[in-house]
Amino acid sequence: MAHKLVIIGSGPAGYTAALYAARADLAPVQYEGLQPGGQLTITTDVENFPGFPEGIMGPALMENCRKQVVRFGTDLRSGRIDSVDFSQRPFKMRDSSGNDIEAESVIISTGATARLLGVPGEDHLMGYGVSACATCDAAFFRDVHVAVIGGGDSAMEEGNYLTKFASKVSIIHRREEFRASAIMLKRAQDNPKIEFVTNTVVEEMLPRDADTRRLGSLKLKNTVSGEASNMPIDGCFVAIGHKPNTELFKGQLDMHDTGYLKVEAGTTRTNVEGVFAAGDVADSVYRQAITAAGTGCMAALDAERWLEAQE
Ligand code: NAP
Repeated sequence: MAHKLVIIGSGPAGYTAALYAARADLAPVQYEGLQPGGQLTITTDVENFPGFPEGIMGPALMENCRKQVVRFGTDLRSGRIDSVDFSQRPFKMRDSSGNDIEAESVIISTGATARLLGVPGEDHLMGYGVSACATCDAAFFRDVHVAVIGGGDSAMEEGNYLTKFASKVSIIHRREEFRASAIMLKRAQDNPKIEFVTNTVVEEMLPRDADTRRLGSLKLKNTVSGEASNMPIDGCFVAIGHKPNTELFKGQLDMHDTGYLKVEAGTTRTNVEGVFAAGDVADSVYRQAITAAGTGCMAALDAERWLEAQE
C-alpha cells in the first residue's frame, strides 16, 4: 500500500516537513539517511536560530527536532533511499535494506555535502591529518599548527573553533577579498591565533615522509606572483562549500548546472507533480538552518494541498 508521504533525508528541512505533515495526519515515513540530523550534527554553537537567546549546539537542536517529529507519530527509519522511480504514481523507491516502498507524494531534503579540493594527496591523507569537519576532528590537533582552506563563513567558523585546540591556525584563501560575512570575518581577524594567507592556493598535500601516511606539509602557490612555497603543517581542514546530494535524482528531476534541484519560484514544487524539495538540496543561495526549516514547512503544506487536490 502506498504511503501518503515519504520524506527523504533529515536535517532542519526534513524534520520540519515531518513535523507539519505528521500534525496534518499525513502519517509521513521519513528516511533519516546516513547522517541523521544532517550537517548541523557536525557543527557546534548555533547562534542564529531564533528562539535560543544563548545559542544551542547543532546536535542538540537536531535531537530536539527529532523528538518533536516522533512525538507526532512520524515513522522514522534509519538508512537511506537508494533508488527512486518518479515516472509513475504512486512513486516507487527502494531503501538501503532492499525494501520497496511506495508513496503518493515525496519530499526531498537530502541536503548537501562538503566539497573537497581534488588536489594530489588529499584523498590519501583524508583522516590522516586532512579533514572536512573541524567539529569532528579539531580535538585531535592540540597545540599544533593547522590550516583551514577557504574564505567563506565555514572557513572563519572552523578557524575560530580550531583555535580552542591548535596553537596556530592559518586560513589560506585563493583571493584577497572574503566571501565570509563581516561579523564572522572580524571574529577571525581579531583572533590572535589566526593568520591569513591570501592569494594562495594549495597545489598538493604531502606526507611527513614517503613511508608515513600522515600530513606533513602543503605545497602552496601564490596566485599573484606565481611563487611556490611549502608550509609545514600538522592538520588541514578543507572548508570550501558544499555540493547538493542529488545524484539519486539525476535524469528524473530538473536540476541547475550546479546540481541543485530546480523548484518553481516561491514554492517547493519540482518539475514532477507530487515531488517537492526543501532545504539545501534546492538552495544554493541562503543555505541556513532557519531557511531550510522554513522550506521544510512549505514542502509539507505544498504536499498536503496537492494530496487534497488529488482526492
Ligand atoms: P561559501 O560561502 O560558498 O564559501 C566557499 C569558500 O571556499 C569561498 O571563499 C571560495 O572562494 C572558496 N573555494 C571554493 N572552491 C575553492 C577551491 N577549489 N579552492 C580554493 N578555495 C575555494 O561556503 P561556506 O563558507 O561553506 O558557506 C556556505 C553558506 O553557509 C553561506 O551562506 C554561509 O553564510 C553559511 N554559513 C553560515 C555560518 C554561520 O552563520 N554560523 C557558518 C557556516 C556557513 P571564492 O570566494 O574565491 O569563491
